[in-house]
Amino acid sequence: MMKEYDYAIELLRQFLRIDTSNPPGDEEEAILFLEGVLKEAGIHSEIYLAAPKRANLLARIKGKKEGKPVVLLSHVDVVVAHEEEWDVDPFGGEIKDGFIYGRGAIDMKGQTICQLCAFINLKKEGITPERDIIFLATCDEEVGGKNGVAYMLNEVPALRDASFVISEGGFFVEDEGVLNAQVSVAEKKLAQFYIKASGTGGHGSAPSKNIASEKVIRAAHSIISYEWPFKATSVVNAYMNGIFKGMKGKGFTFTNLKETLKKEGFRQYVGNNPMYNALLRNTVTPTILKGGEKVNVIPTEAHIYFDARLLPTENYDSFMRTIRRLAGKEVEVVPISGGSSEPAPSGYNTRYFKGISQVVRGIQGPIPVLPFITRGATDLRYFRELGVTAYGFFPITLPKDEYLRMHGANERISIDNLREGLEGTTELVKLLSTLV
Ligand SMILES: [Zn+2]
Repeated sequence: MMKEYDYAIELLRQFLRIDTSNPPGDEEEAILFLEGVLKEAGIHSEIYLAAPKRANLLARIKGKKEGKPVVLLSHVDVVVAHEEEWDVDPFGGEIKDGFIYGRGAIDMKGQTICQLCAFINLKKEGITPERDIIFLATCDEEVGGKNGVAYMLNEVPALRDASFVISEGGFFVEDEGVLNAQVSVAEKKLAQFYIKASGTGGHGSAPSKNIASEKVIRAAHSIISYEWPFKATSVVNAYMNGIFKGMKGKGFTFTNLKETLKKEGFRQYVGNNPMYNALLRNTVTPTILKGGEKVNVIPTEAHIYFDARLLPTENYDSFMRTIRRLAGKEVEVVPISGGSSEPAPSGYNTRYFKGISQVVRGIQGPIPVLPFITRGATDLRYFRELGVTAYGFFPITLPKDEYLRMHGANERISIDNLREGLEGTTELVKLLSTLV
């Protein structure tokens, strides 16, 4: 196995050196790199160009039966890295203190390499899966997936018929001192918008009663003062019952989520934890404030932008109605993104979930394997919208501060994590190949 680890480490370092910052993406070189690795292993792949330099790759190991393929999905683009905030070159693939550094190490080039190696391993071991296993590497995820998964679902109808898709979104994480496996079965929905007001301009020394910035501030105040209710949606109910079960102290005694949410101590505890808070309610956060440019000039227009994330069970239109009501009549509410997709969470009483639990027990022993909601949006939503069971899970033990580097500075993956990911993904893909 040693040789395989070294190979995977080397592959990841090379892969991280290909700059796929999106925008602009320009993922073609990264896709050609994957094609080369597959070719060396004797596996043919197809490249799909959605736009100049915006490439996707699909490779397939034929199964015994037709249709209903299993898809190993990953994206090869990364978010932009601000080099001045990094201690190393974000596209250097450097190894330091047992970590491989680089933009995309966690999100999600590390997982791409593990899926790639696990896929090649099937071929090496001469395994014929029950159903086709598809390795699908796409572009454009970080900016919405139009040239990536959305494009591929149109180009390759077989993907729409998938029985199962696995990609990013969950890890082994320690919560409340207990290690558990988060298997993401749903994600929060994007509902970004801005509010806008106009008013009378002029010199700051003689203000009228019609001031644009005052209107957006009043509206924003009413929006951010609103307390979105905690909701024990079924996935979060299962997750939190798993991690809090039997817990005492910290101002509450946990019985079950629904009951304990009625207790002030628990409400405060989860409300003050940004991770738990985001799992339990909609969040609406002002991010950009735009108004005048000179301290003594009253602007005629003002804007405040909000990043809002809804629980998977929320209805976008009714959310926007609430926002409009809160904003009042002085401002205009303009949606930016959201509302286009209403995917239902994937079920977790499935053989795929059981299969993952089995693999996890093999690696980690009897830890809880819990359904989870990803706070950000991923490409899995496209598959869930089609009713395909789609999970986000990468079997590595990820401490919280490593997780936070994901879209920040000095993103990295430890060599131990990469080994863990390689081993776990290989086992998982083997298991998936046995499902009829
Ligand atoms: Zn990602």
